[in-house]
Amino acid sequence: MKIINTKILSLKMPQTRNQLIALEQTSSETFSKYFSSKTSRFNEKKVSLSVKNNESKSISKETEQTLTKTVTQSTFEENVTVDKSSKKPLSNWEEVYQRIKEYRKTSIAPVDDMGCAKLAEKPGPNITPQTSRFQSLVALMLSSQTKDQVTAEAIQNLRQKLPGGLTLQSVLQADEKFLDQCISKVGFHNKKAKYIKSAAEICQETHGGDIPNTVEGLVKLPGVGPKMAYLCMHTAWKQNEGIGVDVHVHKIVNRLGWCKTEKKGPESTRRALESWLPRELWQEINPMLVGFGQTVCITNMPKCANCPVNDKCPSSKY
Ligand code: SF4
Repeated sequence: MKIINTKILSLKMPQTRNQLIALEQTSSETFSKYFSSKTSRFNEKKVSLSVKNNESKSISKETEQTLTKTVTQSTFEENVTVDKSSKKPLSNWEEVYQRIKEYRKTSIAPVDDMGCAKLAEKPGPNITPQTSRFQSLVALMLSSQTKDQVTAEAIQNLRQKLPGGLTLQSVLQADEKFLDQCISKVGFHNKKAKYIKSAAEICQETHGGDIPNTVEGLVKLPGVGPKMAYLCMHTAWKQNEGIGVDVHVHKIVNRLGWCKTEKKGPESTRRALESWLPRELWQEINPMLVGFGQTVCITNMPKCANCPVNDKCPSSKY
């Protein structure tokens, strides 16, 4: 209340007709801006409330993911456009970015050897481009909620145990239970076995034996969300359609003050980043920050004392 009273007391009464008209215009703009932002916040709350209402107290993580995906997919068409309202990050972001990039050149992280982008076999005499792309997709589908080492092991298992290796045809012919056994150390392996089998069927029936070549097509596959779709466009199709924002990227850019989307989730972070980050950096930022998150800016235990940007980071504990 004190703040409101101070503001009211500091207002000057208009002395002329022109001043009165100017005041009316400003008030009207402020009023409409205030209510349009309230309305959008109200709509966001409505979505999150409807998800919560559907949740029982004993909801499993998988159910929660499925619900999140349903909401994400239903609003995906609207969300693919860049959020122009996002503010620019701290003015020193380029210096911080370069320092992290330099640091990552000498600091090897699991993502550098075993990240999804490294797991597909390259096209060659025995591997068709379609098979290579399908392997990229499967690696991404296995990677959610799973460490890079475990994903790499599962892909290796599939390659060795499926007759003819990991191909669309071998997955179509495999029994779902067998697929599940091959990936048994991966998080939510039974769901993922079902999703992979079903995605293979869709690729065969709808995309002529190849994976979809658009983000919109990829997110229609079961178990594939926007993060995977953008990364798949990078690794499988070599196309830069958007930033792949996973939990590492989401957490770190918020810690660095580049976005203020911590509570809104990775999709908001993606839109905010895309509104100002130069497009040529959209692809490299994911492995750069994922590795940084695996070695230094760890989710629950950031090593701020050893961090190359601890003098610039607003979240530094050092
Ligand atoms: S200073 Fe700490 S919080 Fe900031 S980027 Fe480095 S490790 Fe992360």
